[in-house]
Amino acid sequence: MGQLWGPSLPILGGRILPMLQRYCVFGSYHPLTRRRLHINGKQQKLNRHWIAYSSASDNETSTSDIHGGRKDLDLPDSLLHDARILYCASPAMGHNKESHPESNKRVPAIVDALEKLELTPKHRGSQVLEIQSFHPSSHDDVARVHSRSYITGLEKAMSRASDEGLIFIEGTGPTYATQTTFQESLLSAGAGITLVDSVVAASKLGPNPPLGFALVRPPGHHAVPEGPMGFCVFGNIAVAARYAQHQHGLKRVMIIDFDVHHGNGTCDAFYDDPDIFFLSTHQLGSYPGTGKIHQVGQGNGEGTTLNLPLPGGAGDYAMRCAFDEIIAPAAQRFKPDIILVSAGYDAHALDPLAGLQFTTGTFYMLAASIRQLAAELCGSRCVFFLEGGYNLQSLSSSVADTFRAFLGEPSLAAQFDDPAMLYEEPARKIRDAIDKARVLHSL
Ligand SMILES: [Zn+2]
Repeated sequence: MGQLWGPSLPILGGRILPMLQRYCVFGSYHPLTRRRLHINGKQQKLNRHWIAYSSASDNETSTSDIHGGRKDLDLPDSLLHDARILYCASPAMGHNKESHPESNKRVPAIVDALEKLELTPKHRGSQVLEIQSFHPSSHDDVARVHSRSYITGLEKAMSRASDEGLIFIEGTGPTYATQTTFQESLLSAGAGITLVDSVVAASKLGPNPPLGFALVRPPGHHAVPEGPMGFCVFGNIAVAARYAQHQHGLKRVMIIDFDVHHGNGTCDAFYDDPDIFFLSTHQLGSYPGTGKIHQVGQGNGEGTTLNLPLPGGAGDYAMRCAFDEIIAPAAQRFKPDIILVSAGYDAHALDPLAGLQFTTGTFYMLAASIRQLAAELCGSRCVFFLEGGYNLQSLSSSVADTFRAFLGEPSLAAQFDDPAMLYEEPARKIRDAIDKARVLHSL
């Protein structure tokens, strides 16, 4: 997206209001169509065709009542035990700007594809479970990653967004906000937290807990501790990582980020932390320009950041090598207690914002391999977080194939991947990059 949107502007950490006031205002507000949240009590909704779970009650409470923190969702053990996939969908319908690639069409497109390809609770019964009413994250949860001044500044900016319809909160993406952005961003972070809770609870019931997938936006991996960046508002995965440590005592967290762009926000948040291993594959030279191969962490965290920039044109061959030679051995050495995945689908050959050549089959391979890795290393505790992916067709078919990999079912990539769209991968440059990373990290 760097190429599309021009040069980076500096992040004005902790001073979001003055920053907001500097940007011009245009665009229109799209009403929030997602139902209001229910945070009191819980109710299990089951029928012949649909198994989902919500915490509905008679007393509706809006998302503004979140400052006291969250309540546990407590999914019934029987549901947790049977499920193979848990997912939350947080489409952020009010957070939208016309013709912006990070649009509110993304999550509905995925949900439609899941429905069409018979991967939803309606078709799968208790195998696939949607957690429908999850809690927004609390300010305290977010503040384990982001500065308080950023959080409160963004909250205050909502009244201005309400007056003006849409404002820009950061220039590099550009990252916009509407009047619902703050609440919907808390909701996205909260979806990840709920899935961590549920996956951890399930892992206590048996050896094969379900995998989680947070189908959320706005995405999170570019958001830095002091502010928003690159379409991202709060670092959903970073918040979940800290939460897993704080709430569940899962000390060692591995974050695998295969979005085409470097997850600079996640990287910054944990750069000196030896207990969080951040591993990113991304396109060399793409936005935001960070994630050089020699950036390996600092202080006590030296060695627990691994950046593997791949040359333009790298695709399925590159990622199979990267998984076997970098990702798997790094994880096996680190021995995580949980694996979290920044699952961006913008490395797909059809994606408009970058130049890698992943296919639906590449994403299937990654999901199946990471699932296997989680089973081997951390009791299958694993949650995926949606990051990028801007071609609605390749995004939705690739997420669907990810679900199929989670279920241990064959890929349907052949239906979606046209070999004619691909050209030869730059094998020598790929080999050089992987060898360099192996040497640097003694893998
Ligand atoms: Zn991306």
